[in-house]
Amino acid sequence: MRHINLPIFIPHLGCPNDCVFCNQRKISGTMCFNKTSVKSDIERFLETVDTENCEVQLAFFGGSFTGIDREDMLYLLGVAKEYIDIGLISSVRLSTRPDYIDEEILDILEAHGVRTIELGIQSMSDKVLCACKRGHTADTSRKACRMIKERGFELIGQMMTALPASTPEDEHNTAVELVTLGVDGARIYPTMVFSGTELEDIYLKGDYIPPSLSDLTDRTARAFSVFARMQIPVIRIGLQASDGLGEEDGIVAGAYESAMGEMVISRYYMNYLTPFLNSMKKDIEGKELIIHCAKGEISKIIGHKQTNKLKILNEYNVKKLKVLEKDGIILYNISIDYN
Ligand code: SF4
Repeated sequence: MRHINLPIFIPHLGCPNDCVFCNQRKISGTMCFNKTSVKSDIERFLETVDTENCEVQLAFFGGSFTGIDREDMLYLLGVAKEYIDIGLISSVRLSTRPDYIDEEILDILEAHGVRTIELGIQSMSDKVLCACKRGHTADTSRKACRMIKERGFELIGQMMTALPASTPEDEHNTAVELVTLGVDGARIYPTMVFSGTELEDIYLKGDYIPPSLSDLTDRTARAFSVFARMQIPVIRIGLQASDGLGEEDGIVAGAYESAMGEMVISRYYMNYLTPFLNSMKKDIEGKELIIHCAKGEISKIIGHKQTNKLKILNEYNVKKLKVLEKDGIILYNISIDYN
């Protein structure tokens, strides 16, 4: 069955925090959220979907859902439950902060058909969390992840790369820890400096220097590889316009690239291929190289603007490169052949 998210954006409601990189307050200032319109939004969306053949999950995104006014949260969950009870929606997913998770909250979520909790973890380094004014420690995230998993929810870990004070090692370690904590999926957001945020002031003072696009791609690919090696799906890399966050004109600094996800995965594949290609360099010279991959991965192996393909052809003197999908190859894996 096809999975479809029915997104309801909850702009910054309930979030008393001001993480230095966050522009949600600015976005929410320009957005009008009316909880009573949620029902009509759901109805309109459902009219466009074949609910017999699709699994529809109602997704409360933006802000910190479990931190909003309790009455509002119960109202929204109650609306979702009505649609679950009549079989038009399968379950609910929501995003929140680690410090807004406790057993009582999880009781409420469980009773209202929530299946997926996306946790904005951002970093597992206390030094980075402090520099970003996240207002909680890595230990808070560990406890929240364990509680969520023990209660049987699906857990998606959201992390960021290139945050203030963060190093590529911090990001790699964050990904490793998320895997260890049992996340079922991840999102990786490279940091952008948005106008109106504290990070903009820090950047303008010269105290934050965003990495180049190439460095950002590298360090994000390094974090991505941790999930890829464990076949944990990374459901999003980078901001998109559909997040209400990806419009380039709100970005003051940072290597924004709308194709960031594709570039990161391409870099991952090139890093994966390189040791194999180096070890077979003499054998593949002048030959046709065939790379087999999982379904849907061909363009990522060839690379954004064919970067990987050109690199392989030029650096390894390969006569021709074919990339083919093959049944039985696990996502993010490849096999190499030549003739
Ligand atoms: S990143 Fe999340 S927790 Fe931080 S200020 Fe923005 S909405 Fe609040």
